[in-house]
Amino acid sequence: MSGTLHLVATPIGNLGDLSPRAIEVLAAVDLVCCEDTRRTGRLLQHAGVRAARLAVCNDHTEVSRIPEVLDTLAQGGDVAVVSDAGTPGVSDPGERLVRAVLDAGHEVSAVPGPAAAVMALVISGLPTSRYVFEGFVPRSGGERSTRLSEIAAERRTVVLYEAPHRIARTLRDLLETCGPDRRVVVARELTKLHEEVVHGTLGTIDVGEPRGEYVVVLDGAAAPAAPDDQQIRTLLRLEFDRGASTRDAAASVARHLGVPKREAYALAIGLQTPDDQTPDDQTPDREEPAP
Ligand code: SAM
Repeated sequence: MSGTLHLVATPIGNLGDLSPRAIEVLAAVDLVCCEDTRRTGRLLQHAGVRAARLAVCNDHTEVSRIPEVLDTLAQGGDVAVVSDAGTPGVSDPGERLVRAVLDAGHEVSAVPGPAAAVMALVISGLPTSRYVFEGFVPRSGGERSTRLSEIAAERRTVVLYEAPHRIARTLRDLLETCGPDRRVVVARELTKLHEEVVHGTLGTIDVGEPRGEYVVVLDGAAAPAAPDDQQIRTLLRLEFDRGASTRDAAASVARHLGVPKREAYALAIGLQTPDDQTPDDQTPDREEPAP
């Protein structure tokens, strides 16, 4: 008898992206939770839907809305959640409602549709097979710098949301933390009349006069270059200078540089082998089994 909570995606600009199933669900449910009743009212009017009941569910009211939603579901009614634009729960209210509804043992479903992050990612030309969504970067302080450092080190493609008045600063901060060569794509006003996608690197990108809503898609960090034999030998010599055995020196260098122990060990033996001897002649190392 229990009802279902439906997360219904709505357009991020182009009203034509409201799906027939979204319209069907919005028309059928007993309660529509939305961020702004006037905005959602206009969308419903455009779709010719007379919704049963609209209730405000924004960042401030999401938690206090939970009892009413649970009551409706418990009585067998269905509830829809929409945000102002895009997919609810993606940098928008929804997550806490979903958690509460699942905890209470009710069904949760979704009508999928527009999400600015996914659209920007797939049109960016940057790798899509592995990516992370970071939403909005914290605005200031240690939280911001920590997040920017994490983003700089991230190997997967990173997708960020940004407001027009902060886009320039965020791109500047990314330039500082990731360096000028990192590829970046800035997508603006997606699905709208003035949709624009700018490709470049952090050192060259120019988004012009900030206007509209932005998604930043950042290439992942390059894999760190594997240490070469010379670097491994340098560290091994330092280990030997401080009295480490061949085995310990190799183990320590392998751990620090992330190279296979066997490789470090072979180079360590080479360092200890006089020019006229082969490693096999090295009695002391015979006593130390290779790791
Ligand atoms: N739930 C939405 C979604 O699924 O995309 C995101 C909501 S979040 C509050 C709003 C942010 O999404 C904007 O600041 C912008 O970064 C991004 N965004 C939303 N619509 C966009 C559009 N048409 N073009 C570019 N970015 C957009």
